[in-house]
Amino acid sequence: MDGQELTIRGVKVTDFLLMAEFCDVALPVPLDTTFTYRVPADLTPIAGGRVLVPFRQQRLSGVVVALHDKEPNVRTKNILSVLDSSPVLDEQSLRLGKWIANYYLAPPGEVFRTMLPLMAEFKRAIVYRITDEGQMALHLAGMSGSSARSRKTPEEQLAEFRVLEYLAERQTAREESLRSATRVSRSLLAGLVRKRWIMREDLSHPREAARTVRIAVLKSAEGKLNANQRTLVDTLAASGGRLAVEAVQTLEVPHSTLGTLVKRGLVEIAEEAAGFTVSSLKAHPSPLELDFTAAQKSALNHIRDRVTTGKFSGVLLHGVTGSGKTAVYLAAMRSVLEAGGSAILLVPEIGLTPAVAADLHQVFGEEVAVLHSALTDAERAEQWHRIRQGSARMVVGTRSAVFAPVADLKLMIVDEEQDPSYKQDETPRYHGRDVAVMRAKLANAVVVLGSATPSLESYFNARKNKYALLELPDRVEQRPLPEVEIVDMRQEFQETGQEQVISRRLAEEIRARLERGEQAMVLLNRRGYSPVVLCRACGSRLECRNCAVAMTHHKRSHRMVCHYCGFMASVPKVCAECGSEYVYFLGTGSEKLEELLHGMFPQARIGRLDRDTVRGREDFERTLNALDQGELDLLVGTQMIAKGHDIHGVTLVGVVGADAALGLTDFRAAERTFQLLTQVAGRAGRGATPGKVILQTYFQEHYAVQYAARHDFVGFYEKELRYRNWMHYPPYSALANVLVRSDNLDEAMRWSGVLGRWFEKTRHEGIRVLGPAAAPIVRLKRDYRYQFVLKSASREKLNALLRSMLEHATQQKIPRTQVIVDVDALWLM
Ligand SMILES: [Zn+2]
Ligand SMILES: [Zn+2]
Repeated sequence: MDGQELTIRGVKVTDFLLMAEFCDVALPVPLDTTFTYRVPADLTPIAGGRVLVPFRQQRLSGVVVALHDKEPNVRTKNILSVLDSSPVLDEQSLRLGKWIANYYLAPPGEVFRTMLPLMAEFKRAIVYRITDEGQMALHLAGMSGSSARSRKTPEEQLAEFRVLEYLAERQTAREESLRSATRVSRSLLAGLVRKRWIMREDLSHPREAARTVRIAVLKSAEGKLNANQRTLVDTLAASGGRLAVEAVQTLEVPHSTLGTLVKRGLVEIAEEAAGFTVSSLKAHPSPLELDFTAAQKSALNHIRDRVTTGKFSGVLLHGVTGSGKTAVYLAAMRSVLEAGGSAILLVPEIGLTPAVAADLHQVFGEEVAVLHSALTDAERAEQWHRIRQGSARMVVGTRSAVFAPVADLKLMIVDEEQDPSYKQDETPRYHGRDVAVMRAKLANAVVVLGSATPSLESYFNARKNKYALLELPDRVEQRPLPEVEIVDMRQEFQETGQEQVISRRLAEEIRARLERGEQAMVLLNRRGYSPVVLCRACGSRLECRNCAVAMTHHKRSHRMVCHYCGFMASVPKVCAECGSEYVYFLGTGSEKLEELLHGMFPQARIGRLDRDTVRGREDFERTLNALDQGELDLLVGTQMIAKGHDIHGVTLVGVVGADAALGLTDFRAAERTFQLLTQVAGRAGRGATPGKVILQTYFQEHYAVQYAARHDFVGFYEKELRYRNWMHYPPYSALANVLVRSDNLDEAMRWSGVLGRWFEKTRHEGIRVLGPAAAPIVRLKRDYRYQFVLKSASREKLNALLRSMLEHATQQKIPRTQVIVDVDALWLM
């Protein structure tokens, strides 16, 4: 770390810490730099700890990345206070954060903010007040109506004046109340601050450090009690006289009962430091109790051996669907736990259901911390502290769990490593799998990437011997992989004379399952009722107001919805363009598929899984449980139904239009289709009865379809790799997407022109730059978007070019937030 520079001067690090005059702080702002502050004599910040500093008109908490006494050549401000007396990021985490900032060209402060889920411990308080200039503008507006030279729409001007009026009536207003009263965006407020019409003040401060819980303490059970009071008192007595207030409130007595008892002095409320809640979860048979196959045993032994070397190594665990990868992960983690080390298991977004969490508790008891996206900030912070204190050494979680502050990391596992939910789609745009590999390297730990359909990148690395390749080629208990039958939908159309959603073959097979009391799943990877609404008179389609995409008809909620920005509109009766009544709803989504199946099989009990029926992880689990319990005959849904679960009664999987992506230009379309088809096919025949898959397609000859039908991963991989090589796509090139965006079309075009000319005139040997071109979705969430795609065999050169591009953009006054650099982009849109 930076402190080591001091040995040059022969000063000990400890002395140095006392005398450090300056510290470099990473602040959560969109700027590619850290900021230097002066350390006042009475404060002792530490590297890896947080400090509170003044920044422009705000107070921000940031992470100290270095302490030194190099006077910068700009004037420095003092840090205001020190928030941590011991580091919240250890040296490895600081190095990992710096690596991410560098590799993904992300502002360092935003990286550290992502790594530290401690926002709940820091109370943000932003207040606004109106300035004299603002009063004047409000006054003038009242006289003239509006200012003529403004480029703004009248709508935005009205919003600005709502803000000024609101503030003119008050001394100050907090950001939350101001925004909820005036319904304006943060960027509109920022614009008003720039114009000096309003002032922004930051009164943020750290919260009380200790997290406390309120405990009800029984003082006396004397006196007359009614039934509710008796219940409460008895419960308290049965719990040793103390119970968390939160738990008391789950009793079936009115909330006022507790208050009454407190008033009578029978119960007292005490504040206590929060202990960690013990969840009581139902027992599940542990997956470790099953017998391991020879391949599972050999994979497990290999991983254990690697772990004992105490050196970094990578393993790709390629196991067909149903081959028992999870059991291998858990057994490997348990041996790490027994040896006193720590392990992290990353799972895709939807994979972490309450049932999975219950399994983990079964295996690891209180030693496991489960991190998922449904946690509140406070819960996340609590888990974070539990892990850091060492009371939970096994961590399971989605993407950001890769940053879990375990000490002595021995094993890092990434399940379904190809899953796109590992890539964060906002700054910092890191890939959880790749960060996991880097973290394992820094920690001298073993990283295991597991998948039935590894990404091209990981399989390529395994072939190049960067990772050991372990195969689980068979399903457990010698169950066969399902037989796949392809139905050519063009032929179906010719023979039936109409577009079918469900082919005759699929209908026949579903009927046979229903008659035998077996279960079936049908995948259609598109939610809603109809994806397109078209006017037959003028040909216009109904587009989102904010995005250049068609709006989807949702029949049950009776709305048109944009699946990209969430904008909703009423269902049109006439065309918005020409007023014609010939409005047609075209295409089929999962909602309509469910309705069609109801019509075809009126006796069948049908469930649906997609983002409209699944609000939280519980919904997902409830539906799967219903299927597991035999309460459903048929399940329809989007790719959600393809993920990781293990339901034995399903003997048929129908795939309806899962190959639509093959019609797109994205270079990963074939890989994604192959993965989805393999994953969903893997849901069939996991029990005693062999499974079958009916794959309906319009692209019968496509190799992604053909190889998926034959369960031939290696065949697909070889073919796809030749194409990637030919086209200079990953894994043969490093790829980055640069997106320029603005809600103003002229600005977006001008900025992309500026960068385009810069790319043209700078020399950059060995890097291909494509663009500027309109992004495939040219307008999204109100922003117009232009993009460049950069490819290079040299990651270093690509990184350097992107860095100087960002510098040039800053010189040209293009705001940093409007230039998005996506290194290793998964989607070019
Ligand atoms: Zn029309
Ligand atoms: Zn939209």
